[in-house]
Amino acid sequence: MGKITWEYLAGFTDGEGSLGVVGKGTRITWGNTDKAVMDAIVEFLRGHGFPVNYYSVEKKAPWKRIYMANITQKKEMLRIINLLQPLVITKVFQCENVRQWILAKDKKSSVDFDTVMNFRKDGFSWADIAKTMHIKYLKLRNLLIDRGVLPNMEYSKKQLTYRARDDAQKSGKCINCFQPRGDNGTQLHCRPCADRRNDWKRNRLRRKRCAMASQTA
Ligand SMILES: [Zn+2]
Repeated sequence: MGKITWEYLAGFTDGEGSLGVVGKGTRITWGNTDKAVMDAIVEFLRGHGFPVNYYSVEKKAPWKRIYMANITQKKEMLRIINLLQPLVITKVFQCENVRQWILAKDKKSSVDFDTVMNFRKDGFSWADIAKTMHIKYLKLRNLLIDRGVLPNMEYSKKQLTYRARDDAQKSGKCINCFQPRGDNGTQLHCRPCADRRNDWKRNRLRRKRCAMASQTA
């Protein structure tokens, strides 16, 4: 097997390859029954740092087993298109098509920083802004980190309650009244709180039974 070059791969792509938008992503695929050729191509691509999926598909006789290689990651697709597009002959349109699709997708998923900061001026929390703009909070956070606006950690009321309870439990306090649990306490509550809680549970059960009894009566 001679040495693979980008020119060779471009020609091979013209003949044996296909690329385009498939479902929610993009894909470039090569397929051939000659294992030696495909091995060499995959080795060449992996040598250039491309994450290549390489597999073979059994075909019914009289066809031979076909060896398939593909690349799907958006970033890598853009990289390989930049290398192949100037060299291919029949797949120029497909290359451009995939490139435009990826660029449009990136543009769509980019967040307008000014809009975010305007929301912030109006007193929205970062989480609320993310929700309003239909993006993930983590994505917004990454943008803010990129722009040097590092948001402080913000906790919701519920989260604050959970944190306070966790801290109380760790330091041997009751998670209800935050007083020391004492020797008579349970793992979470002091004795008075535990008793009150047990009472409440018992009463709830009683109320349930009453309700059921009145229904059946
Ligand atoms: Zn308590």
